Amino acid sequence: MLFLDEAVIAAVSGSGGKGCVSFRRERFIPKGGPDGGNGGMGGSVIAKATGKLYDLSDYNAKKYFKARNGVAGGGQNCSGANAEPLVLKVPLGTIIEDCESHEILADLVYEGQEVTLLQGGMGGKGNRHFATSTNRAPRMAQPGIPGQEKRLKLTLKHLADIGLIGLPNAGKSTLISRLTMARPKIDSYPFTTIVPNLGVMTFSDESTLVIADIPGLIEGASSGRGLGHRFLRHIERTELLLHLIDVSCDSSCDILEDYRMLRREMAAYSPELLNKPHMVLFSKMDLYDPTQRDVAALRSALEAEGVASLPISAKTGEGIDEFEKIIFEKCRNIRRFGQEARIPSSDSEEDQIERREI
Ligand code: GDP
Ligand code: MG
Repeated sequence: MLFLDEAVIAAVSGSGGKGCVSFRRERFIPKGGPDGGNGGMGGSVIAKATGKLYDLSDYNAKKYFKARNGVAGGGQNCSGANAEPLVLKVPLGTIIEDCESHEILADLVYEGQEVTLLQGGMGGKGNRHFATSTNRAPRMAQPGIPGQEKRLKLTLKHLADIGLIGLPNAGKSTLISRLTMARPKIDSYPFTTIVPNLGVMTFSDESTLVIADIPGLIEGASSGRGLGHRFLRHIERTELLLHLIDVSCDSSCDILEDYRMLRREMAAYSPELLNKPHMVLFSKMDLYDPTQRDVAALRSALEAEGVASLPISAKTGEGIDEFEKIIFEKCRNIRRFGQEARIPSSDSEEDQIERREI
């Protein structure tokens, strides 16, 4: 499966239908007068967010989207039909930018949230519209207003509730398979894609959280080396960061220093990332060798800095139940039920409405 977090497409709204020039012709009614109807509205182009999509791969093959034109007006005062809007379905967390003006047209966060990207053209008026007392038989009608065209850049910022970070091989993918139904692939991918594996954690009360496994950050990522920036972008919107530290390597590696290095990388990208709630997980505890290092001491060192930690093993299940309990509590306010929209609980209703209208 290809995971796509960026796409550039062209979208065109429909032109309005043209107005009609027509005269009423019936037996015994000479010079029945103008009866040309108006053209219908062209279809607009709308973006709509849905939790059913996880990435932008729908926009990989197809790049050109055109809404239908409005139907032309007809005789006997018939208005042409308005065209249906063309709806582009995008995953939650999609930002849509106008490639020319760089204006952000949409930032779609909630299930079902919609933004009109391009208005359809108005239909032209038929000749009946132009009839006046001095010109009772106008032979003119308007053409429809043409549709607009825009090049649009779609970018996906993930809306995972929980982001898993850590060096390559820390055990992120394995943990996510343990916690969720997701079966992340371990594979090599084309360079244009990134693969944050998403999984849905389901709790005993049937509430859910989305957890994303962000592929390994590398040192220097924040200064643009490798694909670091694109990886980091995906953790910007998570509510909780889990930092995995592998305890299985021998005493020669300074695992707390690795942890600090990743925190520095994050800070260099965006200092706010450091203010996010976070927690450390010491992973692969089944391989833990107490003669090589002292996890209890590492935990107290972190605790002194105000950082909670937990030893776990995705393989044997050690610490997993406790971990799930902690997450259940920590994320009390952001867990979702069913298809419920993901609306941050701290927002007032007005806030939400305002955001919807972006
Ligand atoms: P990622 O790069 O952080 O996603 O790491 P992976 O989940 O792909 O794991 C890297 C390697 O560590 C794989 O070979 C896993 O089987 C292994 N691994 C992950 N978690 C554990 C664990 O809890 N115990 C043991 N023994 N091995 C693990
Ligand atoms: Mg992985």
